[in-house]
Amino acid sequence: MLLLKSKYLLKDPYCVINNGAVIIDGGKIKFAGCANDISNHESGQIIDLGNSAIVPGFVNTHTHLDLTHLHNFINYNGDFTDWIRHLVNEKKEWTESEYLSSIRSGIKSSLESGTTTVADISRNGLALEELQKSNIRKTLFYELIDFNPDSAESTIDNFKNMISKVKHNDLLSIGIFPHAPYTVSEELYRRCKTVSGESGLSIATHVSETTDEANFLVRGAGNFVSLLRDFDMLKDWKAPGLKPVNYMKNIGFLENGCILVHCNYLTGEEVDYIEESGSTIVFCPRSHKYFRHKDHPFYKLRNRDINIALGTDSLASNDSLSILDEMKYIYTQHKTSKPQDILYMGTIAGATALKLNNKIGKLEEGYDADIAVIDIKKETIRNIYDGIFSHDSECVLTIVSGTICYDKHGVSREATVN
Ligand SMILES: [Zn+2]
Repeated sequence: MLLLKSKYLLKDPYCVINNGAVIIDGGKIKFAGCANDISNHESGQIIDLGNSAIVPGFVNTHTHLDLTHLHNFINYNGDFTDWIRHLVNEKKEWTESEYLSSIRSGIKSSLESGTTTVADISRNGLALEELQKSNIRKTLFYELIDFNPDSAESTIDNFKNMISKVKHNDLLSIGIFPHAPYTVSEELYRRCKTVSGESGLSIATHVSETTDEANFLVRGAGNFVSLLRDFDMLKDWKAPGLKPVNYMKNIGFLENGCILVHCNYLTGEEVDYIEESGSTIVFCPRSHKYFRHKDHPFYKLRNRDINIALGTDSLASNDSLSILDEMKYIYTQHKTSKPQDILYMGTIAGATALKLNNKIGKLEEGYDADIAVIDIKKETIRNIYDGIFSHDSECVLTIVSGTICYDKHGVSREATVN
């Protein structure tokens, strides 16, 4: 049994308790509430965290951990397809051990920033072994790239073969991630959707990230045409003549919901389709800024019934793998956004997208004990959200399923025993 006490406890984004306490037993939350309500009969380790906030662990709903070592390697010149060329070029010489080391760095910095769950996109599931060694909770999305409809069947068979060998545990889920409408054939998208429907695997894709992508799908023109020609991926393809999300709806990808990463440019009709399908949009705020996109529509969609989660994307287009940093960024940039709603996007919305919202995302009795503790540096704060999202607040303790995965100040070693 482990008892955490702190000045503030947020059981969920909207429920703040002063002088809070959480009891963890067998990896689950046994109690979350006011410290005064704890019975004297509880025995075990007690950690007093002082002027901090115990919050649900953060969910990074979109990242590429294998690119962690590409931080600051690629300069963005305003052309997304050039950025992709650089990315492919940088990775060309990497050995498998360089990839694995990059993945390990990504897992470490995720845990150090209070992220307890990652949705990681991985070519051929290369990250599986490193993620399995870590106690972080993960949905490992196998990334599929194949623009040739003739090989869609073999690409799917290969994927099925890979996941049939995966040893499952409570902290691991598997997902399928056809990369994007400019790298995945319609035939492969349809087959991915069928596999997801048959097996219940989460399914996600990058979509509507750039205006170039729409140009490619609507008119069959623009920079993606030359990119695909360079990679010898463009054969007898004809543009569907539809905007990206409209195209995804047309090929049945939105049916029964899915995870749509980015959605930076949406028409009103596309917003309707996303809402009707129950799909999640993943917004990657600082990657969005890096690529100099127009304002993301997330703040206009507040009155729509659309789940909007947060992702960091990779360090090739961001400065940290911290969802806390993403939330701080929104808090300072979008003054009209309610802080509770920002915290919701970084916790419950991600858990909902990954179909884990019955076990994580809140600190409720019976939920898995996935917890972040945020040290509040400011002595006086207007409200707790101001403290959590202040520029100098930091994660000091991360717990996943009751296991301490990060302890900045070694407080667990100094815990008192009752
Ligand atoms: Zn991505």
